[in-house]
Amino acid sequence: MIRNSCLKCGRCMEVCPALVHDPGFNGPRALAVDRSRRPWGSELDTWSCTSCGACVEACPVCQPLTDAMRLMRQDLQDTGHLRMLSNLEAHGRSVSRGQWSMVNMEGTHLYFPGCMVAERMPETIGGLVTLTSGFGGLRVPDGWVCCGSPPHRIGKVDVADELAQTNRALLQGTVYTSCPGCAERLGEDGVDTRHVLELIYDHIDELDIQDTSIRVALHHPCHMMRGMGREVLDKAYAIINAVPGTEVVHMRDRDRCCGGGGGVMSARPEVALRMARERVDQAVAAGAELLLAPCPFCVMNLRRADRLPTMGLLEWLTSIIA
Ligand code: SF4
Ligand code: SF4
Repeated sequence: MIRNSCLKCGRCMEVCPALVHDPGFNGPRALAVDRSRRPWGSELDTWSCTSCGACVEACPVCQPLTDAMRLMRQDLQDTGHLRMLSNLEAHGRSVSRGQWSMVNMEGTHLYFPGCMVAERMPETIGGLVTLTSGFGGLRVPDGWVCCGSPPHRIGKVDVADELAQTNRALLQGTVYTSCPGCAERLGEDGVDTRHVLELIYDHIDELDIQDTSIRVALHHPCHMMRGMGREVLDKAYAIINAVPGTEVVHMRDRDRCCGGGGGVMSARPEVALRMARERVDQAVAAGAELLLAPCPFCVMNLRRADRLPTMGLLEWLTSIIA
């Protein structure tokens, strides 16, 4: 997988957030390239990698560093992930059962809630039903299970494949989701997936949005900008700019990972928290009064920093629709 063409330029190491926040982490080149050429023994610590993809983006010869990281994880097990795997086996969700209860969703657009939104942020779904009711509304397929992203990121590809098989039969046509991780994984499984903010973007002129007087910063979710494509992020900015009275401020490292992905919140929660604090500190330094993120995993982790009000972009939008 890793080609013998590494230039040793070190760019992947310069952009890696895990390398900054975990002194025990060796970094993408050291783990994926050097080790594959010259095995170091059995001790490997890949669990602080958030799968952010910054290393791959920076690499001038496009080494598949995140794929290599996932393959290295295949034969490893971290106790932090056992609960996630047993949740998947017990009820097809990567997190324990929360407050998910089906709201009235008889709309025309197929919506895939994803585990984190369904079980930890169900209010987002209620808000989306109202928000999209004027342009068709949403409906959720019966029997959906986790998209498979969390097990896939930790190398449990067989578990992810099994979940994908169940979902594939239910998800025909265009599917909307509010989680970029779900969108990326379902897309890799051949499902035509869009972020639900793209649907809202298409109809933004039809919404009656209240005036706000607030300075907001937008966190760029890795699986959105590097997984789905930066044009989706552009639509997120367009939506925010359509809200009267809102000023957007920008954080210093615009594309820095928040630590919410790759299973790091479960395996290395202290590392994920340090990454979140760095991001939130950057938002505070930029003058933001509110931090927004169009991804439930990012929202969950950024909130752990507890230094600045943090909301999902969709959640914020539903709170200001007249
Ligand atoms: S994916 Fe992100 S966290 Fe993982 S090695 Fe690459 S830059 Fe570091
Ligand atoms: S950025 Fe690519 S070429 Fe440069 S050191 Fe890293 S893996 Fe090698």
